[in-house]
Amino acid sequence: MLRYKLFPEKPFAHIFRLQLEIKKPQDSGQIISLANWIPGSYLVRNFAKHVVSLSASSDGDRVKVKKLDKNHWQCEPCSGVLLVEYEVYAFDLSVRSAYLSDERAFFNGTSIFLKAHDFEDEPCEIEIHQPPKSQSKGSWKIATTLEKLHESKTHSTYQASNYNQLIDHPVEMADYQSFDFSVSGIPHQMVLTGEHNTDIDRLASDLRLICQHHVDFFGNNTPFDHYLFLTLVMTKGFGGLEHADSTSLICSREDLQDSHVEEPTSNYTRFISLCCHEYFHAWWVKKLRPSVFLNPDLNQETYTKQLWIFEGFTSYYDELTLLRIKLLSPDSYLNLFAKTVTRVYSGNGRLKQSIAESSFDAWTKFYQQDENAPNSIVSYYGKGALLAFVLDVEIRKTTKDTVTLDDVLRYAYIHYSASGLEDDDMANIVKKLTKQSFDTFFEKYLYGVDELPLQEAFSYVGVECRFDINAKDLIAFGVRVTNDNGSSKITQVLDDGCAQAAGLFVGDVIIAIDDVKVAHESLVSFINKSFSGTTLKFTIARDQLIKEMFVKLSFNNKTHCTLSLMNDLDSKTKKRQKQWFYGKAK
Ligand SMILES: [Zn+2]
Repeated sequence: MLRYKLFPEKPFAHIFRLQLEIKKPQDSGQIISLANWIPGSYLVRNFAKHVVSLSASSDGDRVKVKKLDKNHWQCEPCSGVLLVEYEVYAFDLSVRSAYLSDERAFFNGTSIFLKAHDFEDEPCEIEIHQPPKSQSKGSWKIATTLEKLHESKTHSTYQASNYNQLIDHPVEMADYQSFDFSVSGIPHQMVLTGEHNTDIDRLASDLRLICQHHVDFFGNNTPFDHYLFLTLVMTKGFGGLEHADSTSLICSREDLQDSHVEEPTSNYTRFISLCCHEYFHAWWVKKLRPSVFLNPDLNQETYTKQLWIFEGFTSYYDELTLLRIKLLSPDSYLNLFAKTVTRVYSGNGRLKQSIAESSFDAWTKFYQQDENAPNSIVSYYGKGALLAFVLDVEIRKTTKDTVTLDDVLRYAYIHYSASGLEDDDMANIVKKLTKQSFDTFFEKYLYGVDELPLQEAFSYVGVECRFDINAKDLIAFGVRVTNDNGSSKITQVLDDGCAQAAGLFVGDVIIAIDDVKVAHESLVSFINKSFSGTTLKFTIARDQLIKEMFVKLSFNNKTHCTLSLMNDLDSKTKKRQKQWFYGKAK
């Protein structure tokens, strides 16, 4: 048994004090370490850089500690109980690490709990103490899915069956608001920390529908016996991270629907779609996962080509679910889907990097995007969702609408959760269920960079897919810009656009066009009102020097997608559309 004690001791300094007690440390000198990354977020984050002090003792005597590398320490051999004491700085307002202030404490175990080498399989007991009264606002409660053993005025005690379990239960401490609901008899809780004016009844009712959908979708194999949504409400912010039986979310106040608003806003839809996405992950990446993630090495990158399956498919189903449970109308659903298509098509990266490569290189490319990202990489979320849709339609076509992607997910979940998925398992499952080889399909669209047959796929389900130029942005012109003291500063230059052909660079500030000063707000309309073939004189500032250059407009790049329901569908297509929208009656 390993014993951890956590004290949110200095909220104003954002310092957690921790103790780890190891009864029988390694004879050769106990090695301890902290993770370098957190599952679900594929970037080496070096959490140990936030350890500000670390010392050890045994029966009151000091034990020397040697630092081995950036995140490993070795304590000198000792015969008694080893007590390691350390402090961790926690001031990251994200779902990925840890935070402590007078208003709340939040942490993932990966940022906080040292791993005792050779004792990874030992059960752990965790004491979580209350912060000092003088440095904490309100009366703090503790929300976590760690199993609670007992509770006193000063602390609560939890347990975990091993180290991997210990670090998969984020903890929120604050004077938060919460509500409970039940799905197929399984208790669920939503915790909201921060100022907000949410229509709680509506949120509870929508969440219940979402959760019921996923529980029913995967059948009687719900991988948890309780579930917790932890949400931090901020002025600006958005994101989520999945765990086995909980999720940490961040949203903006405007994402939560006010009690007096009737229609769901697009922000609210975005938030419940995030809840839907992270909850889906409880089955789809937490329970069923790539085999290399069964026991991932948190010391270094763990590579997989399968993030398109786990993030792409989840992204496909997060919005489709909202349609299926009628929280979205078909028109609103298609509008959201069209935005995903536009995002993927607004850069040539999709023609250079396959989504299998995008998954594999997530560590250094998707998670470390620079200004050239749209030209060089593709998102396994966005294009993964489009591939999921095209695959879904292809499966329906091949099997005369008797099998769908839903069946593939259920089959994979039931048969591969124990072993984990290997890279070619998905293709084999599709082959098994459709009795057709999809090798060429995967070769072209997963491992290759062929354009997805989107228009054909949409037409199969009675949806028209059109590509135009968007008059509201400069994608067709070939740049993205940001406001720089009232002028536009170029943040991205897209391959094959007229801006690149004329020599406009990232960092250039656009001062004037044809000798007329152009303000940031009017740049888009100024450029888009001109026709292809026109030449415009641009006055720009580059490294504070004024330059002039001529841009010959060519708006060939139609990347803005519109999806709309086709009229006058034959009865077969109408039936297929209904099956796609609302799921197949089983
Ligand atoms: Zn995800």
